[in-house]
Amino acid sequence: MTLLEKEKKVVTITYGCQMSERDAETLTEITRQEGYTSSDDLEDADLVIVNTCCVRESAENKILGKIGDLKKLKEKKPDLKIAISGCMVQQPGALERLQKRAPHVDIWAGTHNLHEFSDLLHRSETGKRVAEIWQEPHQTLESAPLAEKGKLQANVNIMYGCDNFCSYCIVPYVRGRERSRQPQDIIKEIKDLVAAGCKEVTLLGQNVNSYGKDFAPSYDFADLLQEVDQIPELLRIRFITSHPKDLSDKLIETIARGKKLCEHFHLPLQSGSNSILRCMNRHYTREYYLSRVAKIRELLPQATLTTDIIVGFPGESEQDFAETLKMISSVHYSQAFTFMYSKRSGTVAADMPGQIPLDLKKRRLQRLMSVQNEESYQLRQGMIGKCYEILVEGPSKTNPNRLTGRTRGNILVVFDGPPEVTGSLITLRIVEAGSWTLVGEMVP
Ligand code: SF4
Repeated sequence: MTLLEKEKKVVTITYGCQMSERDAETLTEITRQEGYTSSDDLEDADLVIVNTCCVRESAENKILGKIGDLKKLKEKKPDLKIAISGCMVQQPGALERLQKRAPHVDIWAGTHNLHEFSDLLHRSETGKRVAEIWQEPHQTLESAPLAEKGKLQANVNIMYGCDNFCSYCIVPYVRGRERSRQPQDIIKEIKDLVAAGCKEVTLLGQNVNSYGKDFAPSYDFADLLQEVDQIPELLRIRFITSHPKDLSDKLIETIARGKKLCEHFHLPLQSGSNSILRCMNRHYTREYYLSRVAKIRELLPQATLTTDIIVGFPGESEQDFAETLKMISSVHYSQAFTFMYSKRSGTVAADMPGQIPLDLKKRRLQRLMSVQNEESYQLRQGMIGKCYEILVEGPSKTNPNRLTGRTRGNILVVFDGPPEVTGSLITLRIVEAGSWTLVGEMVP
C-alpha cells in the first residue's frame, strides 16, 4: 500500500558525480513507488529532494544557497516537503550544523540510508523533522531500487565506497569502504534492463578496477566484464572510473577481446608530477601511468582516453605544473575534466603547507584548458573522412531536427537521419569536426 492516495509531484535536484546521479535515480524510483511523478517545476512540487555533493567546498556553498532558496518556497507552500540527501549530509558532524542552518528541511538522509527513504517519507508525514545518517553501511546493498527501466542507456552500480584515501578527497569518509555487489545480482539487473529496452550500460564504481577484491575465491572486474559481454541484445558496455594503479593487463586484454566492451578509458591523471602524485597519495608515478597508456595503445590502438586533472594542489611548483602539461601532449586525451584544487576540510591536503593563491590557480587552469582544447580539436580533426560505429540516442539536445549518438570511444556525433534508427548501431562517416562535437553522415 502506498502512502499517498493521489498523485503528487517530486522535483529531484542532484549535484556531483555519476554515483550521485545514480543515487538520485534510486530516490526518484522510491518516490515513484510512493505515488509521486517526476517534475522539473518547483512551483508545482509536493516534494523537493536535493541530492548533495561535498567534493568541493565551492559546490557545497552553491548547494547551501539552493537549500536556502527553498525556504521561501516552503513559506508559500507550507505542505511542501523538503528532503536533503547524499554526501554533504553524510560528512562526519555535518548534520547538526546543517539542521541549524536549514530548519525548514523535513528529511535528512545520508548516503548509506537511501534505501530507507520511503520510511523517512512516511515518518515525516506527522510534521516531524526526521534524519537517518548511519556512519557505516549495515544493510544489504540490494535493498534499494535498481536502475530505472525503459531507458536506452542505464547506469549500474557494481560497487560502493572507496579505499584509496587520495589526500584531497572526502569520498572515502562519506561513502565508506569498498563493497562489491555480487556478480549474479549485477547480471540479473542488466538482463532486466535489457528486457525493458536498454541497449547500453555504464558500470559504476569509484574505482571499478578494484571490483571483487573483497570476494573469495577471486573474481575481478575483467571476469565481470566477460560475463556482461555475453548478455544477448545488449549492444554496448562502458565503465567508470578506472584508478590507474589498478588497471591490469588482464583487464585491457579482456576489453580487446570483448565485442561490446567500448574502448574508452576514463583514467584520472590528477597530476603529471611524481612529487605531487605522492602528496596526493595516488600510488602511481607518471612513468607507471604512461606504461598503462602504452599497453592500451598496443592492444587497442583505436581506444580513447579521458581524464581528470587538478591544478594548484598544495606545493605545486611551476615545474610540477609543466610536467602535467607534458602529460597532456604525450597521452592525447580526447577530453579532460580540469579543476582548480579546492580545500576540502576533513581531508589531509586541507592542512598541507604551500596552498596556492587563487589567481595563480586560475592562470594554470586557463593554460591547461587551452593545451587540452587544442588536443581535443586535433583529435577530432583527425577523425574527418573516417567511419565510426554509433549508437543512436535520439534527437540532439541543441538541434532537435538532428539525431545524436556516440562513438565507441564516447565522442558525440550529430547527423541527419530518420528517427527510427534511434536505439540501433549505425555507421557514420565524419564530415565536420569542432573541439567537442562531430558532424557525420550515414553510410548505407
Ligand atoms: S580514488 Fe581517490 S579521488 Fe577517487 S573516490 Fe577514491 S579517494 Fe576519491
